Amino acid sequence: MKLKEIYSSQNNKKPVISYEVFPPKDDTDGSKLEQLFVELHKLMDFSPSLISVTYGAGGSNQTESIEIIRRIKEELKVSPMPHFTCVSTSTKNIKEYLNTLQKFEIENILALRGDIPEDKTICHDFHYASELIEYIKKESTLSIAAAGYPEGHKEAVSLEKDIEYLKQKTEKGAEIIYTQLFFNNKHYFSFIEKCEKAGIDIPIIPGILPITNYKTVEKMATLCKVEIPQTLKDVIEKHKEDKDYIKEFGISYATEQCQQLIDNGVRGLHFYTLNKAHATSEILCNLI
Ligand code: FAD
Repeated sequence: MKLKEIYSSQNNKKPVISYEVFPPKDDTDGSKLEQLFVELHKLMDFSPSLISVTYGAGGSNQTESIEIIRRIKEELKVSPMPHFTCVSTSTKNIKEYLNTLQKFEIENILALRGDIPEDKTICHDFHYASELIEYIKKESTLSIAAAGYPEGHKEAVSLEKDIEYLKQKTEKGAEIIYTQLFFNNKHYFSFIEKCEKAGIDIPIIPGILPITNYKTVEKMATLCKVEIPQTLKDVIEKHKEDKDYIKEFGISYATEQCQQLIDNGVRGLHFYTLNKAHATSEILCNLI
């Protein structure tokens, strides 16, 4: 099913549930891939409409991504959404990738620029996600999603400018926006308001990262430049040695976050599962 259909056929106004997974690293014997599907099977109870699969910088895990996408579609019978980054890729590679997706009858794609590699070796065919979106729109019938940043992209000159570029992505053909993770809903609500004012009128789906351990939160917040609210920081600092406490706290924190988002009418919830079912399924159980 295409993105537009997924988000317009909302059942009883319940939010559309979607998950993000990534191809496991160093999986020489394939056991991590099998484990990923064990976890995904556990998450099927919540009737997800979409599962997105991340793309490694420069296409480093393309073969694994394709296999996961195929199995999501054939084994789980859920619409897969491959991510694709363009910053280190040529037009020729993109064309080939689009052909592969067509072969597997994939309908959706999340089109991204990707992070600039540390050694700055970029391919100059595409500079920004908006250019990739324009190309995919011209060359395929795929339904296209884009990334949005409630607190601004880490390189953005300002949030306003970032939203201006986000608008360009919608004008070039993006139909849905999935956001960067955030731990303070205030940023999401204010972002929605600013996007509406800027004339962005497509669904903006919040990305939720359930906190499961201290290190992950710190790493993600630094990497993505997102605020960790002081109250959250205090609890994590105080209990950082108590892994079980952090896990339980993370579930209850994300449950509250999701409930407030639902109460404010979000069209969907996109969970950054980190390839594990437990936290996401607990949150979804709490919400039902
Ligand atoms: P863009 O929209 O191109 O923006 C990049 C920067 O350029 C921003 O600062 C923007 O303000 C600026 N900009 C945009 N257009 C212009 C313009 N015309 N002129 C000047 N400046 C401009 N990364 C991966 O490697 N693999 C993944 O699978 C992946 N999945 C993601 C999923 C989601 C939901 C999100 C939110 C991010 C994901 N990322 C992934 C990270 C993403 O690739 C990085 O954040 C990357 O740095 C920016 O990608 P983008 O598509 O948002 O870029």
